[in-house]
Amino acid sequence: MSDTQYLAAKTIDEAVQAHNQANGSARFLAGGTDLLVQIKSGIKKPNLVIDVKKIVELNNKLKKFQKMNLLLELQFLVLI
Ligand SMILES: Cc1cc2nc3c(=O)[nH]c(=O)nc-3n(C[C@H](O)[C@H](O)[C@H](O)COP(=O)(O)OP(=O)(O)OC[C@H]3O[C@@H](n4cnc5c(N)ncnc54)[C@H](O)[C@@H]3O)c2cc1C
Repeated sequence: MSDTQYLAAKTIDEAVQAHNQANGSARFLAGGTDLLVQIKSGIKKPNLVIDVKKIVELNNKLKKFQKMNLLLELQFLVLI
């Protein structure tokens, strides 16, 4: 992984722009459970890894989605 660059994007725009500039040689890193395993085993060799975990906007959306999901699950439990 020594020739792979790492970028911790702070905004969605920054992540998308970096991805576009890399012309297909960049991969997003969300949790890393798949990507890191694939890089270590040589299946994927991205020139750039773009970490999206530090994007506040995405994290806030995820939190909202998780809350909605929890509410739906609670409603479902009340109904059954
Ligand atoms: C040991 C092991 C056990 C597992 N067990 C389970 C299980 O029990 N159930 C299950 O459902 N899955 C399981 N998985 C699969 C894995 O957890 C899922 O595929 C999970 O969705 C990976 O998420 P991640 O955030 O870690 O993705 P990453 O590893 O960060 O990325 C995976 C791929 O998605 C791309 N990607 C990431 N973010 C974006 C984005 N924003 N836009 C576009 N592309 C993106 C990456 O570039 C990469 O190609 C397992 C994997 C491993 C290695």
